Amino acid sequence: MRENDFHSLVKKLALQRTDHRCERCWSERDLEFHHITPVKLGGKSTLDNCIVLCHNCHNIAPQDPFLLINYFLKFASIKEMIKHYNAKNEEEATRSLSKELGFDYNALKKRIEVNKPSHVYAVKKGMRESVKKKGHAGFNIPFGYDYINGELRIILDEAKIVKDIYSWYLSGRSMGEIVKMLNMAKIPTKKGGVWAKKTISTILKNPLYCGYLKWNDIISKGQQRSIVELNSFNEVQKIIEKQGGKPANLDLD
Ligand SMILES: [Zn+2]
Repeated sequence: MRENDFHSLVKKLALQRTDHRCERCWSERDLEFHHITPVKLGGKSTLDNCIVLCHNCHNIAPQDPFLLINYFLKFASIKEMIKHYNAKNEEEATRSLSKELGFDYNALKKRIEVNKPSHVYAVKKGMRESVKKKGHAGFNIPFGYDYINGELRIILDEAKIVKDIYSWYLSGRSMGEIVKMLNMAKIPTKKGGVWAKKTISTILKNPLYCGYLKWNDIISKGQQRSIVELNSFNEVQKIIEKQGGKPANLDLD
């Protein structure tokens, strides 16, 4: 049994709870078990973190637990959501839903967009094709990670430096000062060279570190473990902008 699989007893109890049906569309076929909070985000394989989904629903379930509960499980389709709110179209229905949740409409819309399977798929496909053609994922493997079997894995020592860079910058140190500190400590860059302002700025603006992937203009929730909090990332962008620099213009939430 893999560590992140549900125990057979948990599965049995979950099926009893849902009367052997998909908790979204009520189908009785091809039932699977889904973690509400994903294992890689610290979710446990317990009954209260387990929902029963049919294969189809499981395939398109968002990783974001908030969306999963408040949006995905609530309606088996967009059509159903429109009908429920007696709305004219998807936008109007989503507005009603956001009002009901006390959530800003634009923020909710973006959150749904970022979690759409087509987006996650497009980003992964782009990376896969680039690996095939150029032998790498279309980006230099970012400091803090290794790229193994098509997945970004955290390198602990490097991740710690990334955290330091963010917290130094947040505490008011300039990029130039951070460069000096790292070079004085003789910490090598990914390529084994010395640090430059550009390297620091690239790290401070890369949404990958807070759990997102960017492929051309598509932003998607990544599968990689994040190194910095989304709040810290957004704070850093504000400081960069205040100091006349060009922040990562993503407006993530
Ligand atoms: Zn289903």
